[in-house]
Amino acid sequence: MKDPAGEVERLRQELRRHEHLYYVLDQPEISDAEYDALMRRLRDLEERHPELAAPDSPTQRVGGEPREGFVKVRHSSPMLSLDNALNDGELRDFDRRVRELLGDAEYRYVAELKLDGLSMAAHYRGGRLAQAVTRGDGIVGEDVTGNARTIRSLPLRAAAGLEEFETRGEAIMNRRAFERLNAERDERGLARFANPRNAAAGSLRVLEPRITASRRLDYYAYLLLAGGRPACDSHWQSLEDLSRMGFKVNPNRRLCRNVEEALAFCAEWEARRDELPYEIDGVVLKVDSVEQQRALAFTAKAPRWAIAYKYPARQAVTSVEGIEVQVGRTGALTPVARLKPVEVGGVTVARATLHNEDEIERLGLHIGDNVVIERSGDVIPKVVRVHSPGSRRESFRMPSQCPVCGGTVVREEGEAARRCINTNCSARLKESVLHFASRGVMNIDGMGEALVDQLVDRGMVASVADLYGLTMEKLLLLERMGPKSAANVLGNIEKSKGNPLPRVLAALGIRFVGQRTAELLAGEFGGMDAIAAAGVEELQAAPEVGPKVAQSVFQFFREPRNRELVDRLRAAGLRFEHHAAPLAGGALDGVTFVLTGTLPTLSREEATRLIQLAGGKVSTSVSKKTGYVVAGQDPGSKLAKARELGVRIVDEAQLLELAGVS
Ligand SMILES: [Zn+2]
Repeated sequence: MKDPAGEVERLRQELRRHEHLYYVLDQPEISDAEYDALMRRLRDLEERHPELAAPDSPTQRVGGEPREGFVKVRHSSPMLSLDNALNDGELRDFDRRVRELLGDAEYRYVAELKLDGLSMAAHYRGGRLAQAVTRGDGIVGEDVTGNARTIRSLPLRAAAGLEEFETRGEAIMNRRAFERLNAERDERGLARFANPRNAAAGSLRVLEPRITASRRLDYYAYLLLAGGRPACDSHWQSLEDLSRMGFKVNPNRRLCRNVEEALAFCAEWEARRDELPYEIDGVVLKVDSVEQQRALAFTAKAPRWAIAYKYPARQAVTSVEGIEVQVGRTGALTPVARLKPVEVGGVTVARATLHNEDEIERLGLHIGDNVVIERSGDVIPKVVRVHSPGSRRESFRMPSQCPVCGGTVVREEGEAARRCINTNCSARLKESVLHFASRGVMNIDGMGEALVDQLVDRGMVASVADLYGLTMEKLLLLERMGPKSAANVLGNIEKSKGNPLPRVLAALGIRFVGQRTAELLAGEFGGMDAIAAAGVEELQAAPEVGPKVAQSVFQFFREPRNRELVDRLRAAGLRFEHHAAPLAGGALDGVTFVLTGTLPTLSREEATRLIQLAGGKVSTSVSKKTGYVVAGQDPGSKLAKARELGVRIVDEAQLLELAGVS
């Protein structure tokens, strides 16, 4: 290569642009695989040319070593907390004080959503991220630079603007990442995080940057400072500047001419808060003009020019009528409180999770007690605390036998949950079948709870392999099952045989083996049999596979019952081979495809592999030579290009047909 320095710089700019499109604007133009390929090329070049290394290169997000502890850092100016307004009256009181203090001058407010996370300052020198500091006590915080660098929406290098500046903002975890993290912790028998805020704080303050990176935090900037003071004359302007500099700034903000407009904004978002992918606990209102902010100044604790309008917690008091125990796919027993139905924030709640027996003990909860429950977002409601003891209290004990099958229940050391260890347990079986058939796993549409209950209760399905032995005659014996829906279900079962190996592997329900681990194992070993035969050490040699995962996979394939299941799935015709390389002679031999947008069931990687399996090629850009553009939801500019060039456009179903798998 003639000019490695130029190529490295070009790749970095390209990657920065895509990071911004993906993590800040939420409008990716390329697939994850394409992004990874660019990253690999840059990494290769940097390895071959160490003289070109740079700390703000996109390859350097997770470079930090684990550390012993955090260094304390003094803030450039205090990160003060705000006074609260708990209702409209208190907000109007605040406005009256502002008006009186400003005399007759006109003023405006900037209203912004108050995200529920952890405040963090990020310092940039020479336009590069130099240091990140948590809020701490507002005067002194902790240096979490290594961890903050892993937050993709926090630019390592500002796109434009000042050379030396500081942003303040909120590090948050969105609801989906939070739910996924807790599900993973349940699987591992670890304590759950109580809410996304705690999860974000815990993730930013771990000593190992790799862990922070895996937690998918997000950073929204809300303040731009230079030398500890506001960098612009207007707060609204500073938000616009931050956005232009490449920071993620919450788009849900409004410049208000008076307090009534601000109250309307508060009311609007209180009603719409469930639409947001993250938690908010109110609205922050700031006087827009920095000059007026200075005139208003501070009290001992808080600025006089800003206030937090807090939404009421969505809590309610009701009584616990009973505690039921559910049995999950891994056999884990979960206690669930049956409540006297109560309305919380417009939704009737009749059940709340209690997670495990330690939680019940911590709450000091008895059946009959009155409890405070809380609902946040679409998360399952939970019991916050005992409000008052019931008149007739009954203590609860976790059963020592499975409430469904009567089998033995054990609590392993270091685990929060008790598990039913009977692999034939019908509760576990039902959950296993639902998992097997679920979206993103084997995608058997129509295989819902009602159907699975019947199939298991009638003994038609005693193992997921039995799904492939179902017939029209058998299905017609079931309630609410006509010939049409039976044919539909059978068709979907048949179609599921085309799923690639990683899905089959993930569908088995091996502990700790989700979609990603399954992809990695399939990529490393190439086939089900090689994975089944591998020893613990061999398994651990695969990327990202630790001792716990390796042990779990090894154990799974040592169970005679599981081996039998695998053999039966093979006999049913499921895919046990993983083809990373294209095969010649397929239905799509030599045809070039371009993917754009999100497909309904296939991931980018899966669609790519499917095309390659059939002998086709996948390209990143549309040209006259492109055979087909596969368009999903929210397609990018590639779709327009395809139309312009007259390239044929197909959807996922048509792709499956072309590839000969439907
Ligand atoms: Zn059981």
